Amino acid sequence: MAPTRYEGRDVRTGRSISVGVKGETIADVRRENRAEPGPWIAPALLDIQLNGFGGYGFNEAETSTESVARVVRSQWRAGIGAFLPTVTTHSRDRMLHSLRAITAARRDPLIGGSIPGIHLEGPHISPLDGPRGAHPLEHVRLPSWDEFLRMQEAAEGGVLLVTLAPELEGAIPFIERLAEAGIVAAIGHTNASAHDLDAAIQAGARLSTHLGNGAHSLLPRHPNYIWEQLSRDELDCSVISDGHHLPASVLKCILRCKGVEHTVLISDAVTHGGLPPGTYPAAAGEVEVAADGRISLAGTPYLAGAGAHLGQSVSNLVRMGVASRQDALRMASLNPARLLARDDRMGALDAGKLASLIQFSWTEEGIRVHRTVVGGQVVFDEGAG
Ligand SMILES: [Zn+2]
Repeated sequence: MAPTRYEGRDVRTGRSISVGVKGETIADVRRENRAEPGPWIAPALLDIQLNGFGGYGFNEAETSTESVARVVRSQWRAGIGAFLPTVTTHSRDRMLHSLRAITAARRDPLIGGSIPGIHLEGPHISPLDGPRGAHPLEHVRLPSWDEFLRMQEAAEGGVLLVTLAPELEGAIPFIERLAEAGIVAAIGHTNASAHDLDAAIQAGARLSTHLGNGAHSLLPRHPNYIWEQLSRDELDCSVISDGHHLPASVLKCILRCKGVEHTVLISDAVTHGGLPPGTYPAAAGEVEVAADGRISLAGTPYLAGAGAHLGQSVSNLVRMGVASRQDALRMASLNPARLLARDDRMGALDAGKLASLIQFSWTEEGIRVHRTVVGGQVVFDEGAG
């Protein structure tokens, strides 16, 4: 049988590209040196930090197989072909509940094809106001490998990424064990000293999670844990470019320090992301979604998470003039795939890789997705409604 073909403008070259797909795999790629007027084509986006979207979250008492599947479908519409559902600091029972629901949802081949694994953000984070962010203090606790094993068992081995604070008692041997198990250890929600960071890197830590957020609002000018992490070439860095969490100047400086190859865009979007403007009930009190997508604790200036999906984060970064289209897309596809050691299958349009791609236009608002293909299956088609 002849391969199904997807044609468009290669986002890396601006030239014509035709991707032939057989089954779940890219069978061949034809590149021609001519301008192509049609839509752009790029690898599907990969978000390594997503807490929920469209009214459904991964950390709720109500989190279920169906709610996880709903979030997956909402992401397909936006060009996100895969993501790591992010389970955050809570009671052990609640975290196990979330892990089991996500793991059950992954058993559906189509849904599971969009969830390569899980990100555990906490509960081993700084208890301090500022670094702790919105994680509930009562559930913050010291690293426990036994507890991790129980969580990993509930996830059936699906946890691929763990964010923790390396200054906590027991954190360094914990990071060593993560690294030995092939799980990415990330530094975040931390008050680490330079010494703590060096020990974490030595133990195998590889990422700074949402650098510049989950931090004190006031810090010594230097040294502080933001400069220190910026200066460590061993650490890749993830950033939230929703237009609210970090100003363009900070995004630009992080990008120049780390380089395009070592920066990963994340949405860190929450349950209320993508909902129409209004006030909604939430665990931490009422949450207000503004017309521009900003999500805050109602009646306060405090952000209550990110409202933009990863496609909007890519668009924002380009609109702010911080990165080219090509680089912004790379930071949301190839770079996270490489971090997770999935770049043999994901993050690029090459023969032999998984056929996960998007066809889209650049509009004034940014990316408008026409079609999303995951593992050779069309999971979203604008024309099909
Ligand atoms: Zn966080």
